[in-house]
Amino acid sequence: MSKSKEEIIWAPWRIGFILGEKECGCFICRKLGEDRDKGNYILERTDLSVVIMNLYPYNNGHIMIAPVRHSANFEDLTADESLDMMSLLKRWIKILKKAYKPDGFNAGLNLGKAAGAGLEDHIHLHLVPRWNGDTNFMPAIGAIKIMPESLDSCYDKLKSLTEEEE
Ligand SMILES: [Zn+2]
Repeated sequence: MSKSKEEIIWAPWRIGFILGEKECGCFICRKLGEDRDKGNYILERTDLSVVIMNLYPYNNGHIMIAPVRHSANFEDLTADESLDMMSLLKRWIKILKKAYKPDGFNAGLNLGKAAGAGLEDHIHLHLVPRWNGDTNFMPAIGAIKIMPESLDSCYDKLKSLTEEEE
């Protein structure tokens, strides 16, 4: 079996990344401008922020919280935008706890390319559920991560909990 076949089997969502053309521009703004949140894995929108699933996740339930306004600089966020992002962080920690019962979370910002930002022009806060021992399955560098759940079933589960939380 070729390596790419294994990648398709174990991490089917990565095939778009492997085969797809590199997207131009800002994918957060592009998705915000489209009217297909499910297809874009947008879990929630507020007036100021958006919650979106990471398409190349480090773990099940890896989501990102971003301001609606396209901004590269965290220090430029208004007080309202900052508060809205933090409120969503609290809300989504609650939802992810309910959905996945993780042992912990990583929540953080990669600001700038030097810090590892894949998209450096539009601030986004990563929220990654963690389980004891999951580092065994998370190579620091590497294309393949084995996850037992597809993005679609993860989306449906989280979306249904969103409605419960309201
Ligand atoms: Zn943007």
